[in-house]
Amino acid sequence: MPRRQFAHKAGGGKKARAISGRGEQGAEPIEAASGSKQAAGADSGEASRFAAGLYIVATPIGNLRDITLRALDVLAAADVIACEDTRVTEKLMSRYGLAGQRLAYHEHNAERMRPLLIEKLKAGAVVALVSDAGTPLISDPGFKLVRTAIAEGIAVTTLPGASAALAALVLSGLPSDRFFFQGFLPPKEAARRRVLSEIASLHATLIVYETGPRLAATLADMAELLGNRPAAVARELTKLYEELRRGTLAELAAHYAAAGAPKGEIVIVVGGVDDEATRAAITDEALDAALETALATMSVKDASAAVAEATGRPRREVYQRALALAGRGE
Ligand code: SAM
Repeated sequence: MPRRQFAHKAGGGKKARAISGRGEQGAEPIEAASGSKQAAGADSGEASRFAAGLYIVATPIGNLRDITLRALDVLAAADVIACEDTRVTEKLMSRYGLAGQRLAYHEHNAERMRPLLIEKLKAGAVVALVSDAGTPLISDPGFKLVRTAIAEGIAVTTLPGASAALAALVLSGLPSDRFFFQGFLPPKEAARRRVLSEIASLHATLIVYETGPRLAATLADMAELLGNRPAAVARELTKLYEELRRGTLAELAAHYAAAGAPKGEIVIVVGGVDDEATRAAITDEALDAALETALATMSVKDASAAVAEATGRPRREVYQRALALAGRGE
């Protein structure tokens, strides 16, 4: 499908440009930035480099230098910057000497603001969407705006950059070939445990966003429902007190239960069910504990099937263990 092209919004008489910023037949590429200084000092001439459309702009997850030159260009040139929190974005913008019209776009006003932003986009505006940190839409607002813009035939592109999920994954030491991004687990215990049971059998490394006060309880639930897998807790990534703590879920749960709720922002990364290290970490005691929990609500057959799936242990072996445990309880 041909990429959508747009008439240039300012400085008339120029060729239509592709929003993608990549050169292609019949469309001039959006020029590359020559440095943040230039972007920071962008004037209306600079603004005219960008075609109308919605630009999803990733911002740093801590270290303010983790922003791309192209992101700075778009923030300098945008007619409107839709921010999760205008005060947070203000800090980033003043760090780079940028000013620009900022509008709040967050979960509480999105229904009201979305039509307004779509109207501006239809009128030919360059609209940048940013969240407080990292990549918009990733556990942050923006999905419905993107979906509506696509439905309305508005061009959408992204300025990729930091995201805590990938930063944590690459530092975890756990397999990165297949992964599942869970985002935040539900805050209520019953719902949280239900979601953990749902993702227990995924053959992929799991990535979960969490807060300090809930960390120890979540790790304990994970140890119980996923089995005692290898995991990593990534805290304050890219910031002064960046910390990576690796261990089994039970070790990590015990550490944070004793140390108390850590400060700062946290990602938990957990080995997948079929990971070699996961299988090695599922001790016989952990297997029995998982079976006992399952047997409380399921038949021997169902409990052993669920636990075999969740732990990666052979079905036959788990069934025999379940029979023995069920017999012991009678
Ligand atoms: N959109 C963001 C992204 O791309 O990563 C995520 C936004 S979500 C509302 C915020 C959560 O991301 C935090 O509660 C934490 O779990 C994680 N997070 C963000 N920054 C982080 C950092 N510097 N270190 C560790 N986790 C971080």
